[in-house]
This record gives sequence, C-alpha cells and structure tokens, in this order.
Amino acid sequence: MVTAIITDIEGTTTSVSFVYDVLFPYAREHIPSYIKNHSQQINVIEQLKLINTEVGRSLSINEAIEQLLQWMDEDKKITPLKNLQGMIWEDGYKTNGFQGDVYEDVPANIKKWHDMGVPVYIYSSGSIKAQKLLFSHSIAGDLTPWLSGYFDTTIGAKKDHQSYLRIAKEINKSPAEILFLSDITDELDAANQTGMQTVLLIRNKNDNSFQSDHIFAENFNQIQLNE
Ligand SMILES: [Mg+2]
Repeated sequence: MVTAIITDIEGTTTSVSFVYDVLFPYAREHIPSYIKNHSQQINVIEQLKLINTEVGRSLSINEAIEQLLQWMDEDKKITPLKNLQGMIWEDGYKTNGFQGDVYEDVPANIKKWHDMGVPVYIYSSGSIKAQKLLFSHSIAGDLTPWLSGYFDTTIGAKKDHQSYLRIAKEINKSPAEILFLSDITDELDAANQTGMQTVLLIRNKNDNSFQSDHIFAENFNQIQLNE
C-alpha cells in the first residue's frame, strides 16, 4: 500500500539535458554579473559568508566568483552555490521566459496520484527554491498545486539512508508506505534500506546495460500503485 510518493527530478521527472544544457550554463554565465550587481543584498551577503565558511577563509568578491565557477565545473553540490543558482534561475524564469522541463507523462500522473489522496513530494539535490521554480514555471504550467512538499540536501545526502528516514518522519508516514522514484540505483538502495518501496526510472530505452534489483519503469504511466 502506497500512501505517499517521493520523486527525484533529474532523470526522473525532467531530462538531465535540461538541467545541464539550459539551467547550469545560464547560471554559470550570470554568476559574475549577478554577484557583482547584488553584493550589497542581504541574501547574497549570506551566501558569500557561507562560501567563506566552506573554504575556511575570507574571500574577495572576485575570489568568491572564481570559487563558485570552480565548484560548478566540478559539479559540487554545495549549499551557497545551490542558493545563488536558485536566485539567478528565478531571474531567468521570471524575466527571460524560462520554462521548467518535465517529461510528458509527469503532469497527468502527479495530478492523478494527488487526486487519489496520495501526496507527491520532491527530493532533489537542486535547492528547494530551484525545485519550486521549475514546477511553478513548467512547460505544462504550474504543477505546484499537485505537489505536497519539497526536500533538498539540507535534510541529508541522497545516497544516505538516514535522509529517507528523516523525510518519512517529516511527512508523518512509515517508510513502508512510501514509494520513492529515481533514476539512480544508489539512491534507491538507500531508500530501500529504510523499508521504502522503489521504482527505478529508465528514461533512455536504449540503456540496456543496467543491472538492478529494483522494479523499473520507462515512464510514470507504467508505475502501478499497489491497492
Ligand atoms: Mg536523478
């Protein structure tokens, strides 16, 4: 019996190429000007302080920008980087007409599950702010009315089973009642360890090389909730 669903974004609701070919290049291009133009803004100052804490010394604005670009190149999931990317993307969605990519089977199923009384939550390494922007400005319109909550790595790493225990507690469900959806088997293994049910999303049908104990689906239409 599934009474709640938690889904990953990249490779699960949304193509990885949207994240890597659209969002990340936009953030990378705009990091220097955004920080220079907003360096007196309180929420930007807070992120600069977090960068200093991360590197263990006080950086100039230019050094902080260099550090951020380096973290982006290394695909590091560091909180101040994620937060600043979120601020820059907000600009993109609100002023440059960005739309969040979702696979075509995603909106109808999220709505269906929600309307069945099975709340749908997001758990992604992208910041909660970035998650909300993506789903509120999606190519299928505003999907946030059908989403019940958002989790990012501030609750813990995606490959650490403790994170899934914390989320279960937060949403007041026993892990066994929760279905977790992801394209990464290590994340599913961590969720499985807590007793959660899992489905592996295989969005690329040509990828026959995977080896996994998890139930898998090529899209959300194929996901069956146990009655
Ligand atoms: Mg993923």
